[in-house]
Amino acid sequence: MWTTLPTITKYLIIPNNLLVNRQNNSQIFANFADKNNISVKGTFMKHYFCPNENCENHKYAKPGWYVKNGYYKTKHNYQRVPRYKCKCCKANFSSQTFKDTYKQKKPSLNKKIYELYSSNTSQNRLCKLLNCNIKTVVRKIRFLANKARTLHNVNMKNIEIRDIQFDEMETFEHSRKKPISIAVAVEVERFEKKGKPRFRTGRILGLVACCMPAKGHLAKVSQELYGYRRDDRYQAGIDALSKIKADSPTIMSDGKRAYPSLFKEVFPTATVKTITRKQNSGTKFDPMFSLNHACALLRHDVSRLARKSWVTTKNLSGLQDHLDIWTAYRNGYKLA
Ligand SMILES: [Zn+2]
Repeated sequence: MWTTLPTITKYLIIPNNLLVNRQNNSQIFANFADKNNISVKGTFMKHYFCPNENCENHKYAKPGWYVKNGYYKTKHNYQRVPRYKCKCCKANFSSQTFKDTYKQKKPSLNKKIYELYSSNTSQNRLCKLLNCNIKTVVRKIRFLANKARTLHNVNMKNIEIRDIQFDEMETFEHSRKKPISIAVAVEVERFEKKGKPRFRTGRILGLVACCMPAKGHLAKVSQELYGYRRDDRYQAGIDALSKIKADSPTIMSDGKRAYPSLFKEVFPTATVKTITRKQNSGTKFDPMFSLNHACALLRHDVSRLARKSWVTTKNLSGLQDHLDIWTAYRNGYKLA
């Protein structure tokens, strides 16, 4: 509901180096290409087709369907980009036409914004550091967030998950009287060291932000100032978990009463483990370490979630974009 899959434009060709992950990246890309009718074998030019939708070379490009037609120089780095012409309909295009950075004036900023925005830098500081306008930064963030969501959805469909840890964290939009809840689902990665089983924080599986009503002494003031506020926490939990491909996984969480029914709704055969605060205190080993570690990373890396910060969320979709970009960064996807 909150993370809708963006529609992939017809001319989007994903380059081979786009999906970089710890495991089976080539398989993921092959599956993605198969679904979107993108040919990955053969030379670079063989993926191309005529950009004119009414042309016969649009769907099935014949061999030798285009001719070279000079070049142009880009404004940002003065590189030569070769131009081509369709033999059938005489439509002009270049190699840039098929890239997702088509019509972008400063594509070189994408990578910097991707890395800095996931490393505790605010949008305002990004403008100063990169010497560009705030509108450029906002546009690039939306572009990166869309791409991050697409890649994450593709990745989640192809990787089987065994152990999940789930919890919620809280922040606010504009004022503390308008709180936001973030559903966090993290993978626990198992590995062996000297023959002993060990655990570490794996992939970030789902981060979904949603609105929730104010609690405590702010509840009454919030109601008077802003009226009724919806509680979408249950749906956000479903959205965060439903993308995960898992066959009867083990899900660990704290003792919130709504969780077992939530987990059973998404994974009917799941094993649910509840770690209460009593069980957790006084033990050397933190059973919820992966999740707590991920939350600590979020508080450090996402500028608007940092403690004692003047950076705040202005709207929910902006926060969701930031979370999706951070997920991509943390999971090691190559966006730009
Ligand atoms: Zn054509």
